[in-house]
Amino acid sequence: MKTLLKLEERCSNLSLSDDQIERVCATLLKEIENGLRQKTNGVADIKCYPTYVRNLPNGEEKGKFLALDLGGTHFRVLMIHLGEATPEKEFVSRIFAMPTRIITGSGESLFDHIAECLALFLKEYKVDKEVIPLGFTFSFPCRQEGLTKARLVQWTKGFTCANVEGEDVVELLRRAIHKRGDVMIEVVAVLNDTTGTLMACAYKQPACRIGLIVGTGLNACYVEKLENIECWDGDFDDPKQCIINTEWGAFGDNGCLDFVRTEYDKALDDASLNRGRQLYEKMVSGMYMGEIVRHVLVSLAKEGFILNGSSYRHLLKPGKFLTKYISKIEDSPEGDFTNCKCVLEKLGLMNFTPEDCAKIRYVCQLVSQRAAFMAAAGVATLINKINEKHVVVAVDGSVYRFHPHFHNLMVQKINQLINPGLTFELMLSKDGSGRGAALVAAVAARVEREETE
Ligand code: BGC
Ligand code: MG
Repeated sequence: MKTLLKLEERCSNLSLSDDQIERVCATLLKEIENGLRQKTNGVADIKCYPTYVRNLPNGEEKGKFLALDLGGTHFRVLMIHLGEATPEKEFVSRIFAMPTRIITGSGESLFDHIAECLALFLKEYKVDKEVIPLGFTFSFPCRQEGLTKARLVQWTKGFTCANVEGEDVVELLRRAIHKRGDVMIEVVAVLNDTTGTLMACAYKQPACRIGLIVGTGLNACYVEKLENIECWDGDFDDPKQCIINTEWGAFGDNGCLDFVRTEYDKALDDASLNRGRQLYEKMVSGMYMGEIVRHVLVSLAKEGFILNGSSYRHLLKPGKFLTKYISKIEDSPEGDFTNCKCVLEKLGLMNFTPEDCAKIRYVCQLVSQRAAFMAAAGVATLINKINEKHVVVAVDGSVYRFHPHFHNLMVQKINQLINPGLTFELMLSKDGSGRGAALVAAVAARVEREETE
């Protein structure tokens, strides 16, 4: 069987050189600027949508708020008391499954399902007779026309519900709730999970300027000066800033990342529901990382690098190698293959050797390290662009949370890429997408209160 050394050579296209990473940063910056500019926004890959969230929390927010969080494998409803209750009573939440039947069904049944979950929740906590201000986290690319109006541009992450693209999702939610007639809502904000993540962190960390999700999907938002947002159509009062939802998952859709993409990335994209789209996301996020590893392993097995001629048919099924297996395999000391064996057995593979385990682990490391470095390139680009002495980056998402080395790999690479004199921190903003929705609602209420005082 071919040696580990040969394998390293064979897989060299999965490790990124410093030059390549620097080129990713430079290209990303250019694409973000294209998104911000009026003349180029139409053709830009990175759309840089203004969120209409301009005030960050100052800790003075108070009251009771509801939040809906839709955008991944689960749907959550939360109720949060800010400013008053004791910590353990601060919030209650409930998770509802999102069956494939709903994710790929009609838009109407999606919103009926959401409305039903919300009604169940409100009844469970006996607040179904109240009208509580609600923030709606809807984590897909939307063109916003205000704080409470967001048109879905296109689905990502395996969602394909019909008749939602082009529609205002707040209106669809209102309609579904109205149709039921048993509960009332007042939507005061619609937002992306990155914005929620940033806001939830900014509540405690005034230096927070970036929100990052590395979960099922990949995206980031950041605080930008109004003067840099050419397509800004809101008013210009203070603060002269707005959170920009970059939707940088679409970076590379125009071919500008082809210099780092491999045959595995292409194979994955070809078989995906949204071919040719979200190419950066497809290199980094949890929905795809395991699938990349699977493609690499299949081609290595075919060429006799691993599994020495024994059957690899169990690897041939798309989706079979879950991203969480990567975390599991890498989460044991070097040379200890207990976790790896456990995963390979679960996959139905037999007759693998310790050497196979070493090689498979090596492939996992390559793919997750590449993902972490690509994400780091994005964050470093934003830190340099913001150019404040110290920036806190709020991060959430399953990959960041559960991969044993992702955080460290990112920190190491960002340090290498940011301009001298700048410092940063990556801070976990746990469940920020849900909590942040309540905070956006709360900040809107606070600002309104201050204005009428
Ligand atoms: C969506 C973003 C979202 C990200 C993380 C992407 O697929 O387009 O809106 O923020 O996933 O959930
Ligand atoms: Mg989420």
